[in-house]
Amino acid sequence: MAALTGTRFLLRKVKASRCLTPKRTRMKAKWATTLPKYPATNLALQHFEATYNIQLGPLWPSVRVSLLSERKYGALINNFSDNDAVVRDLQDKGCQDFVSCTEQGVQSLAEQEVGRDSDGTPGKKLGEINNNNPFGDQEPAPLRLSSNIKCFVFPRGDIARFKPSRPDEQRLLTYYLMDAASLLPCLVLDVQEGHTVLDLCAAPGGKTLALLQTQAIRFLCVNDSSVSRTSRLKKVLHSYAPKELLTDKRLRVTSFDGTKWGEIERDTFDRVLVDVPCTTDRHSVLEEDNNIFSKSRTTERRRLPQLQTELLLSGIRATRPGGEVLYSTCSLSQPQNQYVAEQAVHLAREEGIQLQVIDLRPLNRMFRKTFNFAPDLLLGEMVVPHLTANFGPIYMCKLRRLS
Ligand code: SAM
Repeated sequence: MAALTGTRFLLRKVKASRCLTPKRTRMKAKWATTLPKYPATNLALQHFEATYNIQLGPLWPSVRVSLLSERKYGALINNFSDNDAVVRDLQDKGCQDFVSCTEQGVQSLAEQEVGRDSDGTPGKKLGEINNNNPFGDQEPAPLRLSSNIKCFVFPRGDIARFKPSRPDEQRLLTYYLMDAASLLPCLVLDVQEGHTVLDLCAAPGGKTLALLQTQAIRFLCVNDSSVSRTSRLKKVLHSYAPKELLTDKRLRVTSFDGTKWGEIERDTFDRVLVDVPCTTDRHSVLEEDNNIFSKSRTTERRRLPQLQTELLLSGIRATRPGGEVLYSTCSLSQPQNQYVAEQAVHLAREEGIQLQVIDLRPLNRMFRKTFNFAPDLLLGEMVVPHLTANFGPIYMCKLRRLS
């Protein structure tokens, strides 16, 4: 009875305090007049319409409708958790680990010449594919991928959703839901036993988590200039990684400006991931919140290629000679992808750093069951959204430091 009275008293207090809150500070939907005249999502779509129509040509209408439709996720399996039952359950639901279902070595580039693309259209002639390709008709070397990363996806055309992940007995979540194409940069980074790795722009931490799954890293440095986003990343790590690992000296989490990294820690890491801030195309056409196309962020948006180049150059400097650096964005934009990679390679060369571009064409062959890749890129590879495989966009370009 006493408890009930207490609850009633509290309720009354809450009601009274609500009445005391001045009207203007109460949460309510915005008045029509205060809504932005030009919603950022509309501005983003207009911008993409103008630029991607030219860049992607006949591919754009399909990419456009996919960007505006519900995206697809993958479930990155947490190797630190007790996940046997979860994996069995995912398999029973028809999901497959896309990483272990690669088509490596099944079909050479020459065979693709007479083959068919995954959507059933005839494959392009080798000469056509390579018209603009810096690697020419050369057969690419097989790609080595980071091991132990497992990610389950529903088959092409299946738009079923995953249930939220549940904790195991040690309270570790069993899988992390993310765009499955975001895993490709981590796979391509080819993390090997004993490597030192820098994740330069790491928050909120999906790719960091994927890198940790390899359980091969000797020292992992995780950085993001945003303090609030770094806190979010730490929370993610706490939900997925054992305490011993988080307090271990082999993991360092920092909040520095990544553009300065190469000045502080030069020629150091075996592998560097530079997953830069970009126009986040999918987010920009769907969400008003934190949209880079809002009028107030125009200068920031226009400065993106400059910032991206500085971050990539910094990542190149932080890589040891012989080491490798992976540049990635979640944008389709050529100025943010190819041009940034080219410019950073050029600026590095002026400093005496020689780089080799790694041929990523095998990715297309290995993962075409799961993803749609953009054809004819001059530099790097890009997953483009498609209604039957609505992942991406994800662009990636890999460089090896020769000196
Ligand atoms: N790799 C992350 C993941 O997989 O979850 C996503 C990274 S997000 C695309 C880009 C990040 O870059 C943002 O979290 C942003 O805070 C960070 N960033 C922006 N400017 C930066 C800078 N100068 N140095 C380091 N990080 C920066």
